Amino acid sequence: MSNAPTRRQFVRGGLALAQTGLALAQNGLALAQNGLALAQNGLALALGVGVSRPARASMQAPAERADGIARLAFLNTHTGESLDVVYREGPRYLTDALGEIDRVLRDHRSGDVHEIDRALLDQLARLRALLDAGQRPFHVISGYRSPRTNAMLSARSSGVATRSLHLQGRAIDIRMPGVALGTVHRAALSMQAGGVGYYARSDFVHVDTGRVRRW
Ligand SMILES: [Zn+2]
Repeated sequence: MSNAPTRRQFVRGGLALAQTGLALAQNGLALAQNGLALAQNGLALALGVGVSRPARASMQAPAERADGIARLAFLNTHTGESLDVVYREGPRYLTDALGEIDRVLRDHRSGDVHEIDRALLDQLARLRALLDAGQRPFHVISGYRSPRTNAMLSARSSGVATRSLHLQGRAIDIRMPGVALGTVHRAALSMQAGGVGYYARSDFVHVDTGRVRRW
């Protein structure tokens, strides 16, 4: 028998080094999430999708975990309803969870429920991860709007578009108590995904899945 390290031991050594490198990368990820700078966000996203290893799961924001589980939490400011749900496992969207989300984000004036764009949910999950918000829910000011509700609101306010993406379940107005509105706004802009509107007086940020634009 030889005392020379086996190939298996070499492999283990390599794995330890790789894990050390991973720990450094995780520190970088934490900094990126705090900084919210564009380039750092890119790093965070790259790490979020590039590495799949159980050891780093605890370092990951809940919505962008390496196991691909995507989770969202909402509180509807009009109805008081709240929801905290895993809506996607890897590429598989969970039908029951999507239905619960559609319901919480319904037109609270008319009661109409409409399918919410899955891409919007994924944007929100990314946003939540960037904000490092833990279990905090998004407070929802407006999700889906029926044609009648939107017509009523746009007649009352110049800030409501007549062909709003809220009509298609592709837009949401949110805030997150405990996180400055400006921070939510900057993080949403950094994703370069869809439209982002800042409504300081009404204290919410609009996010949609239309083309990339800002106001
Ligand atoms: Zn809106």
